[in-house]
Amino acid sequence: MAENGHYSLMIHGGAGMLESLKDPKTASRYRQSIHRILEHGREVLESGGSALQTVATCATLLEDDPLFNAGRGSVLNELGKVEMDAAIMDGRDLSAGAVAAVQNIANPIQLAHQVMSKSEHVMLIAEGALRFADQCGIEQTPDNYFYTPERIAQLEQARLNDKIVLDHDETDSEDEAQKYGTIGAVARDLTGNLAAATSTGGMVNKSMGRVGDSPIVGAGVYADNETCAVSATGYGEDFMRTLIGKTISDLMLMKTLDGVQATAAGIDYFKRKVQGRGGVIVVDKNGQCSRGLTTKKLIHGWIEKSAESMVGFD
Ligand code: ASP
Repeated sequence: MAENGHYSLMIHGGAGMLESLKDPKTASRYRQSIHRILEHGREVLESGGSALQTVATCATLLEDDPLFNAGRGSVLNELGKVEMDAAIMDGRDLSAGAVAAVQNIANPIQLAHQVMSKSEHVMLIAEGALRFADQCGIEQTPDNYFYTPERIAQLEQARLNDKIVLDHDETDSEDEAQKYGTIGAVARDLTGNLAAATSTGGMVNKSMGRVGDSPIVGAGVYADNETCAVSATGYGEDFMRTLIGKTISDLMLMKTLDGVQATAAGIDYFKRKVQGRGGVIVVDKNGQCSRGLTTKKLIHGWIEKSAESMVGFD
C-alpha cells in the first residue's frame, strides 16, 4: 500500500543540448520559471487539489510562458504554421484526453482536458478539435499571439539547413539563445492519486499534419495509480516506437521495480532499441521522483514528498 499524507510534483521544459544554459541569464530565466510554476503546483496540492488539477494548472502555466515550446511559444512547421499536440491522463481510472495538430488554441492542455471530461473520445484532431473547442466555449486565439520573431528566425534556420529539428536539437547549435522546449507535468496528490500532462508545438519545420508522441497515451504521457505518472520530451518518433510511458509503467507492474529503477530500465530500452533521443520525468505511486535522459540536458524541476522545490538541467 502506498503511504498518503505527502505530495510530489515534477515538471519539465524540454530536452536537448541547450548551449544557451551556459549563459547565466538564460539559465536563471529557466530556473525562475520552473521554480515559480512548481510553487503554483504546490499551492494546488496543499489545498487538497487533485493530481489531475495540478498537472493541468502547471501545464497551462508552462504553455503561457513563451520560454517553452508549447502553447504561446510553440515552434513553426514547414509552412510556418503552429500546430500543437497535448494530452492529459488521470491515473485513477486511466481516463485520458488528447488533441493533435490544433491551431489557434492558447492552451491545448485545457482542450485535451475537455476532451477527457466532456466527450466520449480520447483524441480529437485539427478541425474536429477546433469544432469541439467551440462547443466547449474555448475561443480561438489570433495568430499574432503565437508568431514571435524568434520562432520565425528558428524556422528560417531549419529551412536553410533543410532539417526537421527538435526545438533544442544537439546538432542545431545555431542561435541557441532562442531555443525552448516542450513541456510536461506529473504529480501525486495527498491521497496518492497520479496524473500526467504533456503539451508541445512539436518539431521545428515538421511536416504539416505531423503528430508526435506528446498526445499519444503510453508514449509521451501516461499515468496509472498502480505504478507511476510519466511525461516525455525529445524526438517524438523515437518515443512513439518504444511507448516509453507505458514501458516504464509496465516495468514497475510486471517486474516489481520502483520508479527510479523502472525509469533507468525504460531509458536503457529506449537507447538500445531505437537510439532514442530525449528524456522523461516520472513520479511513482510512492511519490518518488526520477528522471532519465539520453540527451545532454533536460530542463526540469521537482518537489519530492512535499519537500522544497528543486530545479535541474541534467
Ligand atoms: N516530443 C515532441 C515531439 O516530437 C518534441 C519535444 O519534446 O520537444 O513533438
